Amino acid sequence: MPNQTRVVIVGGGFAGMSTAHKLVQQRGIHVTLIDKNNYHQFTPLLYQVATSAISIDNVATTFRSYFEGKSNIDIKMAKVCSIDPKTLTVHTEEGESYQGDVLVLAAGSVVNFFDTTGAMENSFPLYNLNDAERLRSRIILAFEEADRNPKLIDEGVLNFVVVGAGPTGTEIAGALADMINISLPKEYADLALTKAKIYLVDYSHAVLSAFSEESQKYAAETLHKRGVQLRLGLLVRSVTDRYALLSSGEKIASKTIIWAGGLQAAQLAQECGLVQGHGGRIEVQPDLTIKGFPSIYALGDFANMPGRLPQLASVAQQSGYWTADNIIATKKGKPRKAFQYKDKGIMAMIGRNAAVVEVGKKRRELTGFFAFLTWLSVHSVLLSTLRQRIEALMQWSCGYFSKNNDFQTIDRIKDAHIIWKK
Ligand SMILES: Cc1cc2nc3c(=O)[nH]c(=O)nc-3n(C[C@H](O)[C@H](O)[C@H](O)COP(=O)(O)OP(=O)(O)OC[C@H]3O[C@@H](n4cnc5c(N)ncnc54)[C@H](O)[C@@H]3O)c2cc1C
Repeated sequence: MPNQTRVVIVGGGFAGMSTAHKLVQQRGIHVTLIDKNNYHQFTPLLYQVATSAISIDNVATTFRSYFEGKSNIDIKMAKVCSIDPKTLTVHTEEGESYQGDVLVLAAGSVVNFFDTTGAMENSFPLYNLNDAERLRSRIILAFEEADRNPKLIDEGVLNFVVVGAGPTGTEIAGALADMINISLPKEYADLALTKAKIYLVDYSHAVLSAFSEESQKYAAETLHKRGVQLRLGLLVRSVTDRYALLSSGEKIASKTIIWAGGLQAAQLAQECGLVQGHGGRIEVQPDLTIKGFPSIYALGDFANMPGRLPQLASVAQQSGYWTADNIIATKKGKPRKAFQYKDKGIMAMIGRNAAVVEVGKKRRELTGFFAFLTWLSVHSVLLSTLRQRIEALMQWSCGYFSKNNDFQTIDRIKDAHIIWKK
C-alpha cells in the first residue's frame, strides 16, 4: 500500500504489546511483531505459577489470539540476533530478515547473576514462564523427596533460599510461607513441615527497598511472623547444588535457591551495535529514539529512559503507548514529544491477607487486608483477556476459601528433576 509506514517491533512484552496495540488501530501503518515466544507473559503473576496458586494459561496470552482479526499486523515467532541500524533491518536466528521504516526495540531484560559463583548453574531464576514452571516443579519435588525420605529434611531439602528482597523475592517468600503453613499440611499429613525453612537474603538492609519505611517494616514483620528468616545486608557469595554461601560466612544447605536478585538488558542489547548504559540497557533520547537514528526507538526494560525510571510493567506499557503516539505524530508531520511517565504507585503482595500498596506519586500507603484486596483487584484488571480475568478471580477465590494450592503438577522438564543425592 503506498504511504504505508512499516513498523517492526522486536519483543512482545508490556512495551512492545502496547506499541502494537495502539498502532494496529491506525490506518496506513503495518506492524510486524517479532518475539522468540508465541505468547506475551504477565510477569507479576509468575511467582503464583511457581507456587502452584494459578494456572499457566492465565499468565500467558498468545499474540495471534490477542491480535485476531487485525489485518495490519504480522506475528513472527523468531529470535532476533542482530540489527542493522542503517538499513532498519533486523536479522533472526532462524534466517529471515525484516526491514521497516521504523524499528521499535523492546526486548526487555533477563536475569543478572552479577558473576556470583555457581548461581547460573545451580539457582532457579524467576524471570519468565519457563523459569516459573521449572521452579514450580523444583518446589513440589522438594516436598516429594522429603516425604519419601524424611532424613533429607535435616540435610536441608526443605530449605528455600530466596535471593533478592525486592517485590519478586518478597512475594515468592511470602507465597512459600503460605504453602508451608496453610495448604501443604493438609496434603503431606505425615511430613514434618514445621522443619521447612525459608530464607530471604538481600544486600540492602531492608525488604522492598523501593517502598516507604512503613511498608518495609510491615513487610518484614509479616514475613517474620510467617516464618521467613531475613538475612539483610548480606551478599550471596556462591551457590552450589547443595548450599548458598553468604558474605557473613553462613552456609545455608538448600537445593532450591531462588534467584530474584537482579536484571540486565536482554542479550540483543549487546548485539545491536547501539550505545549501552547502566544495566546494559540502550541509551535513548527523551522522545525514546536513539541518537543519530530518528527511526529507531528503544523502550521498556531494554532502554535507559530519561529520569532513570524503574524496570516496571507500568513504565514499559506507558513507554509503548507513547512510542506509538510518536510514530503516528511523525507520520502526520508533527513533532515527537518527550516521554513523561505518570506514576500511579507501586504494590507488592506479602501473602494471605497481607500486601503493601503505595498509591500515586505522593505514595499514600495501604497495608494489610485492604491492600491485599487492592492488589488482587488491580492485577485481575491488568490481565490481558476477559477469560484470564474471570479464571484468575475464580482460582484466587477457590484457593483462598479452600486453602489449597491446586496447580501442583510436576512438569516433565528434565532439569527440574534434581534428586537430592549425597
Ligand atoms: C517475576 C517478575 C515479576 C514482576 N512483577 C512486576 C509487578 O508486579 N509490577 C510491575 O510493574 N512490574 C513487574 N515486573 C517487571 C516487569 O515485568 C517489566 O518491567 C516488564 O515486563 C518490562 O516490559 P518489556 O516489554 O520492556 O520487557 P519484557 O516484558 O521482558 O518483554 C520482552 C519481550 O521480548 C522478547 N525477546 C527478548 N529477546 C528477544 C529476541 N532476541 N528476539 C525476539 N524476542 C525477544 C521476550 O520474549 C519478551 O516477550 C516483574 C518482573 C518479573 C521478572
